[in-house]
Amino acid sequence: MPRLAVIGFPVGHSRSPAMQNAALAELGLGEGWSYGAVEVPPEGFEATVREIAASGEYAGANVTVPHKLAALALADTASKTAREIGAANTLTFGRDGIQADNTDAGGLLAALPGTPSGLRALVLGAGGAGLAAVWALGEAGASVEIWNRTPARAQTVQVEVTARAEEFQVEIEVRTIEVEPQEGAAGRLDQRGYELIVNTTAVGLRGEDPFAHLPLDRHGFRPGQVVVDMVYGEEPSPLLGAAAEAGARTIDGLEVLVQQGALSLEIWTGREAPIATMRAAARG
Ligand code: NAP
Repeated sequence: MPRLAVIGFPVGHSRSPAMQNAALAELGLGEGWSYGAVEVPPEGFEATVREIAASGEYAGANVTVPHKLAALALADTASKTAREIGAANTLTFGRDGIQADNTDAGGLLAALPGTPSGLRALVLGAGGAGLAAVWALGEAGASVEIWNRTPARAQTVQVEVTARAEEFQVEIEVRTIEVEPQEGAAGRLDQRGYELIVNTTAVGLRGEDPFAHLPLDRHGFRPGQVVVDMVYGEEPSPLLGAAAEAGARTIDGLEVLVQQGALSLEIWTGREAPIATMRAAARG
């Protein structure tokens, strides 16, 4: 009876159990396998993971905020992507111990309509999701610019990504951009110049107006652009609504979630993930 779970803090809002259980049923694994949710604060994370890994009941787990760095740190082995990004969202428990993977990067790339190679990309946000997006897009050949509300954090991501790129001998083009804030708004940058815009900030999660918090103009999108909003909840998000109105191609956070979940499922089961079923369940 292999069990799987998403481990986070908080985790009650997660769409992963619905999505993964639907996928397990579709694959005919529903009788034996199950996917749940484990809420644990940072101080209890390592002990909890070691306990469930040792129980022999669990095949693996997804790891979400705020545990992704700790997940990599406690693993016995880690994939190249997890080591490059410095964080893990997927753990597999086997005879050789705990294996860490990162499917956030691959999930974002899989959600895009094509390769970002050669595109000028803007990543908004420099938290965990921002770092994974910068690495994924940069490694795939995009020229990446990072903006963050707190500019020092964007600088840190640039420095970290550049150092890791050197360590792993990967060519990554990344720079930070700053925008002078305006009264009551984050300032504006020339967003028409980007072929790909990815919002990895938490703006919109609690209903904030993205155009008050991000350096984007509601009327500044154009056809031909691809706009991704990692935040999911309201559908479509106000950011994606404005982008779609201008004729841009939009990708929401649920699609990115589905794609990263599909990659995790394939690692655990060795089976091709039923994407359409996962998408329907995540949106359910
Ligand atoms: P995090 O590490 O806590 O980073 C939060 C980011 O949001 C920081 O860049 C922060 O800027 C920025 N931010 C927060 N409030 C802001 C505001 N009012 N104005 C401007 N910037 C603001 O979180 P994370 O793990 O990167 O996650 C970020 C978002 O992505 C969350 O909504 C999460 O649910 C979503 N996400 C989605 C997926 C998916 O699969 N769809 C995967 C991962 C994450 P400062 O540095 O200035 O605080």
